[in-house]
Amino acid sequence: MTEKKKRLRIDRSLAEEEIQYYYSLLDESITDYDCGTLCKDANGGVPYCCQSDNAVPLLYKNEYKLLRSMGDLWHEWRPTDAEDKKLKETEGDDQIFCECKGVEHCIRDQRSVSCRTFPLEPYLDRRGVLVGLTFIRDFTDKDPETGRIKCPLSRKKQDIRQVFIDTHFLFWEKLMLRKEDEYETYLETSRSLRREKARTGRRFEILFPSHLLESRNARKYIY
Ligand code: SF4
Ligand code: SF4
Repeated sequence: MTEKKKRLRIDRSLAEEEIQYYYSLLDESITDYDCGTLCKDANGGVPYCCQSDNAVPLLYKNEYKLLRSMGDLWHEWRPTDAEDKKLKETEGDDQIFCECKGVEHCIRDQRSVSCRTFPLEPYLDRRGVLVGLTFIRDFTDKDPETGRIKCPLSRKKQDIRQVFIDTHFLFWEKLMLRKEDEYETYLETSRSLRREKARTGRRFEILFPSHLLESRNARKYIY
């Protein structure tokens, strides 16, 4: 056997125990109050991010398997129109779009990584280094139907608990080390925020973890 053939392929699929560990890092509440109170009145009494018409949670396949072993809160999401079908095509090999039974059936411990991390994602600076979290771009815009900001929490960054930012920073750091495709995804979303800022002047928020709050270096390469 040649050296090349002997080389092991790294399994990039997350195992169920890894997902359980990630859930333990993603257990903090985002605010000291229920932020659903900021958006649900304008959205038929249901938080904006818990309606699959607005956001379809993307689960890891083994995450879905794990959650199915816990109960029937989750099922596979089925596209119904051309736009949905296009979205379905963006699923990675290790991922599956899912839908929960609805907010009235929500079980805190059975929320997916997507639910737990919303509305934030990692921000990588010009060096490609993770320096903080930022709001998912699409949800900082107004919803054309209601004329309201999709996620009003994106205008209240001061309400986000520092311990939430710190534990989620740790989670993203671990995940991107484990999954190169996630690193590439957020490298690109971060670049696109910078490109938009250069083009239109539109600013975006960065939420720094405690250890970088006073860091000048972390601010040096952010734009
Ligand atoms: S994260 Fe944003 S969209 Fe979701 S419940 Fe809170 S305010 Fe509403
Ligand atoms: S599981 Fe809970 S948090 Fe996640 S989308 Fe459903 S209702 Fe929202």
